[in-house]
Amino acid sequence: MQQAGPSLVTKVANTLASGAVTAPKRISILGATGSIGASTLDLISHTPDDFEVVSVTAQSSVEKLARCARMAGAKRAVIGDETLFQALKDELSGTGIEVCAGQNALCEAASDPVDCTVAAIVGAAGLKPAVAAVRTGGRLALANKECLVSAGEVFMQEVAKADCELLPVDSEHSAAFQVLREAEPESIEKIVLTASGGPFRTWSLDEISKARREDALKHPNWTMGAKITVDSATMMNKGLELIEAYHLFPVRTDQLGMLVHPQSIVHCLVSYVDGSVLAQMAEPDMRTPIALALSWPRRMRSPTKRLDLAEVAQLTFEKADEVRFPAIRISRDAMERGGTAPAVMNAANEMAVAAFLEGRIGVPDIAAVVEETLDKAEGRGLIKECCGLDDVFGCDLRAREMAQDIIEAIQ
Ligand code: NAD
Ligand code: MG
Repeated sequence: MQQAGPSLVTKVANTLASGAVTAPKRISILGATGSIGASTLDLISHTPDDFEVVSVTAQSSVEKLARCARMAGAKRAVIGDETLFQALKDELSGTGIEVCAGQNALCEAASDPVDCTVAAIVGAAGLKPAVAAVRTGGRLALANKECLVSAGEVFMQEVAKADCELLPVDSEHSAAFQVLREAEPESIEKIVLTASGGPFRTWSLDEISKARREDALKHPNWTMGAKITVDSATMMNKGLELIEAYHLFPVRTDQLGMLVHPQSIVHCLVSYVDGSVLAQMAEPDMRTPIALALSWPRRMRSPTKRLDLAEVAQLTFEKADEVRFPAIRISRDAMERGGTAPAVMNAANEMAVAAFLEGRIGVPDIAAVVEETLDKAEGRGLIKECCGLDDVFGCDLRAREMAQDIIEAIQ
């Protein structure tokens, strides 16, 4: 993976130059009941005349989905778990909102030709619907970073083929997108993503090994879904984000770095060949990057707390510690290895995080499961060039089985 990835910035810049971009109006939200889904719906509720919500989706939370659909005045509500069709239908009876269920229905909802689809499903489970949205064209506001980790090259090829306009929602990537706006790829020296350091930033290895579920779920700066909160605690989140950045921006893997910044005010720094460093700042609130992805190239008003640097007083930065947070090294290795390695890593991590959340393994076991799965996958010839989505799905499935065996051996 030493070549520069395809340039999202150049692509969007070209679209802008052609005057083809208009503010999105009709939107669908995949994963509407989650943290990103809630932030998106909150933003929309502040300017309801500017948006028309077509579909909202969720996996299993019937009541929450029904509430989202009613509040947003959505045309359709889709539940991934087929067995919950009748329950959702009952919840929405008399509203006129169309009800659908099942994995195919999720993809069909994602294929609706809307102005913008917000991809906010968590995990590789969001890949098929996200690809369905990409193939329809229009704008994809991508929060679901696991799509780019698992299927990066293939996903970006789909984006290019469909002429989909991909806008990152992840705060660091939204920051990089803004900072890189006018940049020529040759002028970029380095992209540095910041990390809060999570709840264990100052914990010793011994303390981390005894950490409980509730400790990992106590993020200092962000309120997010459980999976990404645990990823932030292990710092795997930043590893996933490096891979995400590699696919989004025109840089090589050695031009990507990370810096721990406990205040989460500076989200990304870009160094240029002339020695300039440009950074983006904002209060840690996902409504800011979501607003950008919905309204770009305009900026919509967002009801977030305004940044007051005098109040923040101090912005501090430190190096990430790869000894206490081995996920950083593991993810960098997988990024450099390329091919199917990131898909295997992501699948193993999803399994390990789920096992941790169920109380079956400890925090240090998460990285250990991921590393052992990668080793086993290498031994069995699973780490190879990635030739398409079927390769990604196949590797994802086999890596999950391997990770499951490793988890069971730990218990
Ligand atoms: P969440 O757990 O709060 O919500 C996940 C959503 O996905 C829910 O609506 C759920 O019903 C749906 N879902 C879960 N499993 C599914 C499946 N198998 N099939 C279909 N739908 C399914 O997650 P979140 O924190 O909102 O994160 C969503 C995505 O955005 C993740 O990829 C995360 O890494 C990324 N992200 C989140 C934040 C944040 O602040 N929460 C920030 C940056 C990036
Ligand atoms: Mg992020």
